[in-house]
Amino acid sequence: LRQGLGKTRRGLVNQLKAIVGQGPLNQDAVMEIEALLLQADVGLEATDYIINKLQNKLREESLPSEQAIEYLKEILREILDRPLQQVKNPGFAPEKDTLNIWLMTGVNGAGKTTTIGKLAHLSQKSGYSCMIAAADTFRAAAVEQVKVWGERTNTPVIANPGKNTDPAAVVFDGIAAAQSRQTELLLVDTAGRLQNKKNLMEELSKIRRIIDKKAPDAQVEALLVLDATLGQNGLRQAEVFSESAKLSGVVLTKLDGTAKGGVALAIAQQLNLPIRFIGAGEGIEDLRPFSSYEFVEALLN
Ligand code: GDP
Repeated sequence: LRQGLGKTRRGLVNQLKAIVGQGPLNQDAVMEIEALLLQADVGLEATDYIINKLQNKLREESLPSEQAIEYLKEILREILDRPLQQVKNPGFAPEKDTLNIWLMTGVNGAGKTTTIGKLAHLSQKSGYSCMIAAADTFRAAAVEQVKVWGERTNTPVIANPGKNTDPAAVVFDGIAAAQSRQTELLLVDTAGRLQNKKNLMEELSKIRRIIDKKAPDAQVEALLVLDATLGQNGLRQAEVFSESAKLSGVVLTKLDGTAKGGVALAIAQQLNLPIRFIGAGEGIEDLRPFSSYEFVEALLN
């Protein structure tokens, strides 16, 4: 991840050090930090929060440069950790001997299919039985892509061969199959065509209803897969999805290619959504549970 966030890292740390300099933090430096945070896509709300805390601290005591950077890291971790406190099973920890259903949402191209493949792999490595429901029935290619990941990870894929089948029906079949084979983790791929927003949101709500009805005892997560390189546009996507998909968290992808990792802070602060996993590459191993410590170090060190 350190390497992954390399661009962000080199940028922010050098600039921060240059701004803070040797002496105690002064008002000019605070203003420059503010600009830096906005540039890194931390967003207005989170930036205001950070700068206010910094100002309050400065009113109490003078902050030598090293201490200023440490305090800044502390605030960033606090923002990221706050929504994580509501997570029942943090890290990769589906409940054993129970059906866990993870509804994977996000716009096309965000890295949803890849993330499903990575999760199936992680699941297998961690000793869980896993299955995938290919409920993005809108794009034939999506089903094929999911099947490829299924083969690579030795994970059964439930799909409906017909075109334009009802995604909720595939989810229904997926749950039935998972229940009869006592599968522990069912990953559900969903459509990501944001061109027809209303339609997609209705589709997601319908899938949610099917899950609640067919598997009322399942542990359900709804994760939004979000491309970190989108910066503030990603925040708007997250807003749209959180309205209808009852999101429980975010998977931030493509952190290997961006200086925009700051959007994680905007998501945590503005939407109160925990970042659950991060993707830092196209490979099957390039997914890891989110750690605020690791993330902030990578962002600032
Ligand atoms: P979907 O349309 O949301 O299912 O997106 P895909 O899973 O097909 O991914 C779109 C592209 O992003 C593919 O070329 C993936 O290899 C790539 N991708 C996915 N996750 C990551 C990541 O964490 N880092 C990088 N660099 N590329 C990724």
